[in-house]
Amino acid sequence: MMNLKKFEYWFIVGSQDLYGDETIKLVADHARIMADEFNNDPLLPGTVALKPVAITPEKIRGLFEEANAAAHCAGIMTWMHTFSPSKMWIQGLAMNRKPLLHLHTQFNRDIPWAAIDMDFMNLNQSAHGDREHGYIHARMKLPGKVAAGFWQDSELRRRIGVWMRAAAARKDGQDSPVLRFGDNMREVAVTEGDKIEAQIKFGWQVNTWGIGDLSSRYAKIDNGHAEKLAEEYAAMYELAPALKQPGAARTAMLEQAKIETAIEEMLLSENAGAFTTTFQDLHGLPQLPGLACQRLMEKGYGFGAEGDWKQSMLTRAAKVMAAGILGGTSFMEDYTYHLEPGKEAVLGSHMLEICPSIADGKPRVEVHPLSIGGKADPARLVFDAAPGPAVLATLIDLGSRFRMIVNEVETVKIENPMPKLPVARALWKPYPNLSAAAEAWIISGGTHHSVYSTALTQEYFRDYARMSGIEFVLIDKNTSVNRLQDELHWNEAYWGR
Ligand code: MN
Repeated sequence: MMNLKKFEYWFIVGSQDLYGDETIKLVADHARIMADEFNNDPLLPGTVALKPVAITPEKIRGLFEEANAAAHCAGIMTWMHTFSPSKMWIQGLAMNRKPLLHLHTQFNRDIPWAAIDMDFMNLNQSAHGDREHGYIHARMKLPGKVAAGFWQDSELRRRIGVWMRAAAARKDGQDSPVLRFGDNMREVAVTEGDKIEAQIKFGWQVNTWGIGDLSSRYAKIDNGHAEKLAEEYAAMYELAPALKQPGAARTAMLEQAKIETAIEEMLLSENAGAFTTTFQDLHGLPQLPGLACQRLMEKGYGFGAEGDWKQSMLTRAAKVMAAGILGGTSFMEDYTYHLEPGKEAVLGSHMLEICPSIADGKPRVEVHPLSIGGKADPARLVFDAAPGPAVLATLIDLGSRFRMIVNEVETVKIENPMPKLPVARALWKPYPNLSAAAEAWIISGGTHHSVYSTALTQEYFRDYARMSGIEFVLIDKNTSVNRLQDELHWNEAYWGR
């Protein structure tokens, strides 16, 4: 599992030099106490790096210059303990390249009614200083997040943690390319997109790697290695009886073990975070990677089928945001509806490639034919997804811009066995209800591919979209399709600029 402590969040506390050294020292002492507490609270997964109190335009600009160049800096948190005139911040903010959180809090929780005097008022001035600071963010149209509340309150800390995780995903996306094995599935529209714009907006490097490079690595991996990996499978999952003895089914599982190793070797050698495959380009591989993709997603890699690099990178981003949070995250696809009145639900799945992190109970390795692609029968993990609240997120390219769409759903227990459908699957009820959610998703242009997560909420994706400078559309309990249609028109005016 990824450790988010490697990401630094610079804590820049603003003041000014009019107050004198004694006040500035108090500001610094308070900021130190806050930074130490933040670093000891698991709600804040990153490392808070406290910086010297920012009191002049030159020093403020210097801090932002340093942050831009700092390899581990994933974001900047600002807070004005006292008043800090905002014209001093313009140069620094204008050159800043890191995600911003404007923390609006006050060191003292309560007003000391009997003791309060003008010294106290001048020191505990966030109510006033943070409004000056917020104005300049609004004036400069900066895409930051404002998180307000008492700094020891767990809800405020949770909100800071969400932003930290989104910023970690953004930093990771800039450092972890996606490897595309083969191109997009022929004639499919939604998996296409502007890879240059993706790199400009998200930092994602999206490049193609020959299937021949992968298949020649695959051919070099010996049976002994595959058998060792099979022992790991046997320890982690249930194996179908035919897979426990020599024969065609066990051979199919061992082939997936070799594919898993070959893909992982290439991901590691390129320091990549995500990959895509396509069943139309498997030359030199015996099967469509199934179990291999499921295992690599479980290890934290992003994945997209049929060459879908947008959802692959979004799955990776979600995996980073969800690191250490209870629940699972997977590549997903809307497959089939259940339209019985009162029990409407969506059956989500894919041909094979669903991450076992979302499983309810122990997944089972099975080998079955695949009716597409013309290759050998692939091994895959079969399971039902755990019930509970979840979100679906997708990313589309509208030609002029990217749009992220998120739908809140409730995953339910699958009561009816489906013995003839040997794939991993999830059954969910979308909010506000199936028909309105489907209408809302479709008028927004949402694809059949998405990222599914029981670990994350819409807030993570919203923060990530905002810091990436892209449009965000939410479909939840309060969604009215008519209202959304209007919102989409207004968004054209804002985003279509
Ligand atoms: Mn698909």
